[in-house]
Amino acid sequence: VVPARTGAARASRVGAAVRTRVQRVLPATPGALVWLFSAVLAAGALAIDLLIVHGLPAVRTPIEIPWPIFAVGFGLAELKVVEVHFRRESHAFSLSEFPAIIGLFFLPPQIYLLSLLAGTGIALIFLSYQHPVKLAFNLANYLFIAVLTVVVFRFVGTPEGAPALREYMAAFVAAAIATVVSTFNIAAAITLSGGAPQFKKLPEMIQFGVLVAVANTSLALLAVTILWTAPSSIWLLAIPAATLFLAYGAYVSEREKHERLELVYQSSRILQHSPELDVALLALLDHARMMFRAELAEALLLPSSGVDHALRTTSLQDGPSEGITPLDDVHIEPELESIIERRQADFVDLLRTPGGREMPIRQAMVAPLVGESGVVGMLTVVNRLTEGTSFSHEDLRLLETLANQAAIALENGQLEQSLAELSRLKEQLRYQAFHDPLTDLPNRSLFAEQVAERLARDDGDGTQPVVILFDLDDFKTVNDTLGHAAGDELLVLVTDRVRGCLRETDLAARLGGDEFAVLLEDEPALLDSVQVARRLIHELGGTFLVHNKDVVVGVSVGIAMRRGQDQTADELIRNADVAMYTAKAAGKRRFAVFDPTVHAAIIARHELSAELTKALGRGELVVHHQPIVSMNSGETVGVEALVRWRHAVRGLVPPDEFIGLAEESGAIIQLGRHVMSEAAREVVAWNRQSKTRALSLSVNVSVVQLQQPDFLEAVDAVLAESELDPSLLVLEITETAMFRDSRETIRKLEALRERGVRIAIDDFGTGYSSLTYLRKFPADILKIAKEFIGPADHDSDEWAFTATMITLGRMLGLQTVAEGIEEEGQFARLRDLGCELGQGYLFARPVVIGELATALRLMRQDTSTGAVPGSGNAAFQLRSASAVSES
Ligand code: C2E
Ligand code: MG
Ligand code: MG
Repeated sequence: VVPARTGAARASRVGAAVRTRVQRVLPATPGALVWLFSAVLAAGALAIDLLIVHGLPAVRTPIEIPWPIFAVGFGLAELKVVEVHFRRESHAFSLSEFPAIIGLFFLPPQIYLLSLLAGTGIALIFLSYQHPVKLAFNLANYLFIAVLTVVVFRFVGTPEGAPALREYMAAFVAAAIATVVSTFNIAAAITLSGGAPQFKKLPEMIQFGVLVAVANTSLALLAVTILWTAPSSIWLLAIPAATLFLAYGAYVSEREKHERLELVYQSSRILQHSPELDVALLALLDHARMMFRAELAEALLLPSSGVDHALRTTSLQDGPSEGITPLDDVHIEPELESIIERRQADFVDLLRTPGGREMPIRQAMVAPLVGESGVVGMLTVVNRLTEGTSFSHEDLRLLETLANQAAIALENGQLEQSLAELSRLKEQLRYQAFHDPLTDLPNRSLFAEQVAERLARDDGDGTQPVVILFDLDDFKTVNDTLGHAAGDELLVLVTDRVRGCLRETDLAARLGGDEFAVLLEDEPALLDSVQVARRLIHELGGTFLVHNKDVVVGVSVGIAMRRGQDQTADELIRNADVAMYTAKAAGKRRFAVFDPTVHAAIIARHELSAELTKALGRGELVVHHQPIVSMNSGETVGVEALVRWRHAVRGLVPPDEFIGLAEESGAIIQLGRHVMSEAAREVVAWNRQSKTRALSLSVNVSVVQLQQPDFLEAVDAVLAESELDPSLLVLEITETAMFRDSRETIRKLEALRERGVRIAIDDFGTGYSSLTYLRKFPADILKIAKEFIGPADHDSDEWAFTATMITLGRMLGLQTVAEGIEEEGQFARLRDLGCELGQGYLFARPVVIGELATALRLMRQDTSTGAVPGSGNAAFQLRSASAVSES
């Protein structure tokens, strides 16, 4: 991967994070927007009132009608609204123009506004249970419209004396403008509240609204005229007014009935004409959802003879629809049982849909799908979208009609099709089980099946099955830097190129992750396979354009041909895997042909590695301690913890044989912690019962451990748990490990030293340490590798290096420890060179803690007879070294 790309990847991730945050904030915003809008309307109304309406003179009228009558009129008009539904929203028409127009003529403007506010306010607040936002908006809107009406009316007409044509026109104009503005405001509020934008429906709503307004207004003008000239005859108007009102109701209910009929008709058409069951069912559900203005519509087909799964189909208002989906297990709630028994649709209290979908359910209608054989399923409709309304009994009957239609369609003639559908579904499931959904390639199971099939057959033409396995060398980097979506895209592109590298008869598969395989036929010389491998390396080695970035990955390819007649598919695939591993180890972007000897080594390592993990759990890893001795006093100042594996068959396995493996597999982390905490526990216990000075504890730390982000915490945990004094702990790190990733390493080592823990450079001299590094690194102790401990009887040349190291250590202020002292001559030499501490078989071998006392006693005995070891008593060293040996 070209690393410069990561910046853009990060930017796009940040973009996504911002987007989700915005989406989380949004649901709170629409309500606030409507509040704001309402406030603007109310403020506008007040402003106009103060600036214009306030100064308008009252009109002299022949009779005075008390304002409470108007307030009641406004209230009644509000209650008896006629609702027309437009999908998610309902729109109401009322007779409010009636009191409004009469009021314009008979009330002083301010009183007019007051009575309107009082009447509608009381009706809305106490009798219509509206949501506060909606209530606020409605009141503000009414007030605004009323103020507007007054202004328009007074502007167009000059209401002096008896109303004349000009005043009539003024009333019509005012009513029409009021309707238009009000409709517009309502559409705006709905849009602001997050509903579907309403402006497309605006003309339709205005048209209908103006028609109603004009009819109401003319009736109201008749009333005005009568009140002006012959008030006592006003009762004559009661009949046309009531008729008009009833007519509205009748119109709307007719219209709804018509709509329902239309919907039922449409649904039967859907069922009859859709070619496929899943399409038909989904269309029907979409239709039902719209028809009932519901959040969800679901069809659940119960398991029946021949079909062992329940099948669910769902249509959702806010989300993708779901085609026929088999359910593993459905739980029929008792309420639903009773619907099935009674074979009748009903309202049901549910926590989840009959098909098991979790959602907040306010109201649900369920209708059984009744076929000839009984109830075959259920049709469910959940949650009315329009606020403040709910499903009615009429809706329930309608759902039942729909369910009957659907059940008949399911049984008649279409049942066969639905069975066919099911078998297709099963096939689809099988296909899905054997193919990778991303690349559509066969997956590991199908590939193994195909290999096995091929192995079972002998083509007799001298060719043999060959498995080629390959994976992308840097796929993980792509995933980590560009994200998983980019990784997926890359895999698809890779798949295309792989297809281009193969012949028609070759079978490609994706085994998982970035691992692909090909099955082909080849002669024993493997010429074709090698050619395919070369092509793959060449083709996949080029750049890929992923998310508009050039990405480079390589492949390592392993080739394995069948060997022997009884080879299984698994073995063949594993052999190709081994070959791929070899190719990777040899430096990637190349191929390797399976070689059984390599195989044996890898298998052995694999097995050992697996065993090691188990051994850790079984407590087979034990800690030995080797004393570290003062060269001058002969006193033991500390021990080094050295791990051993007490293997059931192989006996005591030395660390050199498994530390590397543990580092590779990551088991070293657990192993290292185990050693450190065991050793600390043992040494603390030892120090508690010992009368001599407390021993320090040196623990070897692998570079893998050091690189763990929580390494410091792990050390702290051991210190806390064992109560080991940090100044007694020495961590031994090899020089090569120290210089890797140096900045981070230095930081960790420094932090450890702040706690009092000391750092030793282990096996000094065997790595490539440079003097500069050595100065920079926070170390306290230098351990001279045993390679630099020369033979005891040799002349000085061999010791020159050792002498330099000791001097170097002294100059840098480090304590020096010589490792691997086996002979008295070596000891004497090192002491003369000024080495402070020593460690080696001469003093003691590493022993379990239980034998440490014996080992130390033996050493002391010798010192008591001959001062310090190395003072000439050769017998002592031999005894101590052999008396306590590892077992
Ligand atoms: P090391 O840290 O340099 O440990 C000293 C090695 O020298 C030990 O080998 C010890 O048994 C051996 N030795 C001590 N005195 C003499 C002597 O007089 N003559 C000879 N020939 N050898 C002597 P051992 O125990 O086999 O450990 C080998 C290496 O394995 C250690 O080298 C250390 O690097 C690693 N190791 C041991 N235990 C652990 C552990 O718990 N964690 C990690 N990460 N590495 C460990
Ligand atoms: Mg060591
Ligand atoms: Mg060492």
